Amino acid sequence: MGALPVFRWRLAPDGYATRRQLRSLGLRPGGQDVAAQLERPRRRRAPLVAYLYRIDLAQPVRPMTPAKRAALAKANAARRICPNCRTDAGYCIPRSLGMCVTCAYPDERHVA
Ligand SMILES: [Zn+2]
Repeated sequence: MGALPVFRWRLAPDGYATRRQLRSLGLRPGGQDVAAQLERPRRRRAPLVAYLYRIDLAQPVRPMTPAKRAALAKANAARRICPNCRTDAGYCIPRSLGMCVTCAYPDERHVA
């Protein structure tokens, strides 16, 4: 493996993230090699090093299984059902309205 690009702390280029930053994005390195490293100089000690991974090569923390996908689809479908008219609005019911837009604004005509 060749020398890694080294960046100064806070000067990391776009598209790179530390393992912790990936995690906050719901991602994991996913087997990729470290793409670069960050160094933060410290007084009288070795610099603090953080390893950077490429975000475009990162993978979701939990791969979607068919069961999970189905559960998610079901949950999404439930959120599309208007509690007022009980029909599938075709979009998630806005929490602020608590019902589909047609019910919330019955007088307004939907202009395409
Ligand atoms: Zn409705």
